[in-house]
Amino acid sequence: MMVDAPTNIRSDWHLSLFAAHPLPMWVYDLQTLAFLDVNQAALLQYGYTRQKFLSMSLTEIESPVCLPGGRDDLVSSVPIAQGNIYRHQKSNGTFIYANAVITPILFRDRRAAIALIQDVTSQVETILALAESNQRYKSLFEHNSDAVFSFDLSGIFLSANKACTQTSGYTEAELLEMSFLSLVVNQHKDRARRHYQLAARGRPQNFEIAIRHKLGHQVELNVINLPIVVQGQIVGVYGIAKDMTENKKTEKRLAWLAQYDPLTGLPNRNLFMDRLSQAINRTNRHAQSVALLFLDIDNFKQINDTLGHAEGDAAIRHMAGLLMSCVRETDTVARLGGDEFTVIMENVREKERIADAAGDILAALSQPFKLNAYEVVLSASVGITFYPEDALDNEGMLKTADIAMYHAKAQGRNNFQFYSSDLNVQAEKRMSLESELRRAIQREELVLFYQPQIDLRQNRVMGFEALLRWKPVQGEMRFPDQFVRLAEDTGLIVSIGEWVIETACSQMKALQKQYGQSFQVAVNLSARQFRHKKLLASIRQILERTGLEASSLDVEITESFLMDDIEHTGSVLHDLKQMGVSISIDDFGTGYSSLSYLKQFPIETLKIDQSFIRDVSVDPNDAAITSAIIAMGHSLNLKVIAEGVETSDHLEFLRKQGCDLAQGFFFSPALEYADLKGWIDQFRI
Ligand code: GH3
Ligand code: MG
Repeated sequence: MMVDAPTNIRSDWHLSLFAAHPLPMWVYDLQTLAFLDVNQAALLQYGYTRQKFLSMSLTEIESPVCLPGGRDDLVSSVPIAQGNIYRHQKSNGTFIYANAVITPILFRDRRAAIALIQDVTSQVETILALAESNQRYKSLFEHNSDAVFSFDLSGIFLSANKACTQTSGYTEAELLEMSFLSLVVNQHKDRARRHYQLAARGRPQNFEIAIRHKLGHQVELNVINLPIVVQGQIVGVYGIAKDMTENKKTEKRLAWLAQYDPLTGLPNRNLFMDRLSQAINRTNRHAQSVALLFLDIDNFKQINDTLGHAEGDAAIRHMAGLLMSCVRETDTVARLGGDEFTVIMENVREKERIADAAGDILAALSQPFKLNAYEVVLSASVGITFYPEDALDNEGMLKTADIAMYHAKAQGRNNFQFYSSDLNVQAEKRMSLESELRRAIQREELVLFYQPQIDLRQNRVMGFEALLRWKPVQGEMRFPDQFVRLAEDTGLIVSIGEWVIETACSQMKALQKQYGQSFQVAVNLSARQFRHKKLLASIRQILERTGLEASSLDVEITESFLMDDIEHTGSVLHDLKQMGVSISIDDFGTGYSSLSYLKQFPIETLKIDQSFIRDVSVDPNDAAITSAIIAMGHSLNLKVIAEGVETSDHLEFLRKQGCDLAQGFFFSPALEYADLKGWIDQFRI
């Protein structure tokens, strides 16, 4: 403490008090701050010799307290401080906090001050540590990403951190006048109050509630309430609240996804099953029927293959929308997956009404629509089944509806079929045929037969049509019409088809080597095989592997391929042509190819369907059609081959008309590969 009127140290008594004082003391010049005298305790405390001490000035050991973070004020809260607190450096470089009580004096007639020093380092450090720990707690509170708050026993906010203001939308000042309960949405208020009261009685609580944000929307919270206990007394409640809105949204989305199809927003298989069970239960009580319609889009793969998956998705959404618009509100439309949909119709009294509804659905679905600038026409096949007439539970309903749908596909697609028990028998046959066919592939029971094709101008063997046969170890040989359709439906056709091309190519290569002639081999492609993305690559690889010239391979496709999807077909055919493979149109005359289509594609050969040849020598109509096809083919620069040539009359007629090639029993039936050699050796016309 500085006093204006300095005292003069004069007496020995004063001096000995100074020298012997247990606390460090020193005298320094108020002007130069040079030390003028120092006591023994100071020498001991600071570690300097007397001589060194007296050669220094106050500035060399003393600096004002300067704490990081502007917390200097803390130092003044050291309880014992009477003067000021400084930082002093000792001779060994360490620092102490020192409380200096300074009194001005005259010392040897100089204006000086005497300082009484008290080391308060431990007190200061304790205070700093305490402050720091408070700071940490405060920071835990202020910067917590969860809302942290407290309220008094009447529920009024006492404190609220920043996250709390953000979560609620209210400022801290606003909150401090509000009760926590006033934020809680009405339907949760009672529950929130109960939890709060229990916490206020000393039992920590954890619960979920929703509050109303100042802007009006609802915020889902997970709240912890803890009692605030001060000296054994509960004085209020702490709250920590985590914003669960996003979690809740995710939870809701997951719950939604468990029941709905994200692509169309329609109920998925799970919800469909629930709804069907409910419909069946309700019907039990009211003695009416439930109809189940099972729809599968026709040839949907083609959309994906030609326009891409994204457009495929758009088409599925479009179909879903159409389907929804065709049914009553009480009907359930669901997407089972892929291109399959179901419709549940309840309270059915007359089945004709369901037929009408199915007819309406088919009509709506087959309307053309735009998909990425392309006009697309889709259709669906529908199977219909009734509870309780056809099946008594969900699984049975689905199974019978599926069987009926499959029947609709077999009937040419774009139609609906009711389930009947006959269909079930057919379906079972189909399933056993399918498993037999799979086994046949494994056991290598599929074989190729070859029917010679004769060049009528040169009277020589031009090549062979490869024909697939299924020769079971036991039982009769099966022809393609008995199993190819099934192979198409199950997708087995792709691997079977590949096997056919590979076998035909390698056997033909062997035959060519044997005879030194470039026989051609014709293979039939199925629609599904033709649409398969890997067709071209697979043909290219097979030709490489077997070493057969591409020009020795001819692929036969039917007219319907040309009509199906002109763009895709065109590009595949051009690629085949570029590879060197030739293309024939099979069964020509039975479809509805227009000449303009024929011109667009790189076709080499037309094959006149055998139905025209059969009666060509007796039926003037067939004769007229056959000669017209030959003339037309030639005018388009195409070769023409006749199949089903059985008699010399047939042959004579065809020769007269200038037909290029022929095949049929007249020359030879289809032969096993092993028998070809004998046949070629004896062939002559
Ligand atoms: P079918 O007339 O016999 O029904 O012939 P399809 O081509 O429609 O064949 P199928 O019904 O057996 O196959 C449906 C196809 O739908 C299979 C798959 O390529 C496609 N698909 C399945 N799910 C989706 C999907 O979510 N999006 C798209 N874009 N395509 C799908
Ligand atoms: Mg389909």
